[in-house]
Amino acid sequence: MTSPRYFPHHYLVRFLLLIFALQALTACGEKDKTYHAQLVSLGTLIDISIWNIKKDKADTVIHEIENRLNAVHQKWHAWNPGRLVEINKHLANGETVNLTTVEYEHLVLARDLAIASDHLFNPAIGKLITLWGFHSDDPPAPPPPAVREIRKLVAEAPNMQQLHFDALSLSSSNSEIELDLGGFAKGYAVDQAISILKNHGINNAIINAGGDLRAIGTHGNRPWRIGIRHPDGQGVIASITTNGDESVFTSGNYERYYDYQGERFHHIIDPRTGFPAKGTRSVTVIHSDGATADAAATALFVAGPDQWQKIARQMHISRVMLIDEHMNIHMTPEMAERIHFEQNIEKEIIITPVES
Ligand code: ADP
Ligand code: MG
Repeated sequence: MTSPRYFPHHYLVRFLLLIFALQALTACGEKDKTYHAQLVSLGTLIDISIWNIKKDKADTVIHEIENRLNAVHQKWHAWNPGRLVEINKHLANGETVNLTTVEYEHLVLARDLAIASDHLFNPAIGKLITLWGFHSDDPPAPPPPAVREIRKLVAEAPNMQQLHFDALSLSSSNSEIELDLGGFAKGYAVDQAISILKNHGINNAIINAGGDLRAIGTHGNRPWRIGIRHPDGQGVIASITTNGDESVFTSGNYERYYDYQGERFHHIIDPRTGFPAKGTRSVTVIHSDGATADAAATALFVAGPDQWQKIARQMHISRVMLIDEHMNIHMTPEMAERIHFEQNIEKEIIITPVES
């Protein structure tokens, strides 16, 4: 995609293959009354499916969704001029910022998700993301940054708890904070789109932002069925049928990366080390709202195969699948109940509960 990216997805071809695979999965005898539309926003392809709707109404609603997504994208873009860039400048200068209610709610949500994740989801590490070259419309390129530079930024230890809210006034006690909301931006945006649908009385639909999605209702008399991408890009590893109103979000090390001297450097940064998180290839989360699912997928990716349970418990996430660097699959029993593998799994499947 060439549009300005807030959370980038290069692989249009892979995505289209996934869509085709999913259509094959869902194909069945019943006459399909699904209305499909696609638009490009948020730096990715957004696929909208609505069950049983008149074209006129669909057009109106989709237009409204497109406007909202573009506004969200522009406002919260991590490096193109917009409101977030402005807020970051004020905070860096030690100034107080007056927020609108919507801005306040967005930032408080980001803060609360960060705290619940022990700051493994840490939207205050924008400087690290910039250092690694991910604040650019171009693909990131080697070599990796100097270790000294990385250590310096890690030592500044910016986090969301250093933001202070006094009614609608925002200030910070760490001038090294640079906000980058990319780790839950798609989730937040998908939630906005779903609320527009619901406001129009539409209760059976999917908003799919490059493979991350929220589904409401059903596909006629069947549930919506969606696919989870194989971390190698080999089609669909598993499918999930959604239940009611659910979001399914995946974070993977195959979204934006480069390989350098035999190592993969990708776009999910471990705030504790300053380096791309190790040990995980992908994490899929099912949760009610998209923002929480998206933040959790990022946080659990960072937490890795040894620590994901603790963070999932704290974030109240019960459905998780984590594929580790050896292709072993770690899952909660609640996820195991819902997932259907579409390929032979040769490695171990390890099922551990997350007690709440
Ligand atoms: P994607 O949007 O590609 O599906 P994620 O939801 O995991 O993937 O978000 C990755 C984006 O989040 C990065 O491009 C970066 O902007 C930001 N990010 C990277 N590491 C973290 C982190 N530890 N906490 C919060 N945001 C992060
Ligand atoms: Mg995420």
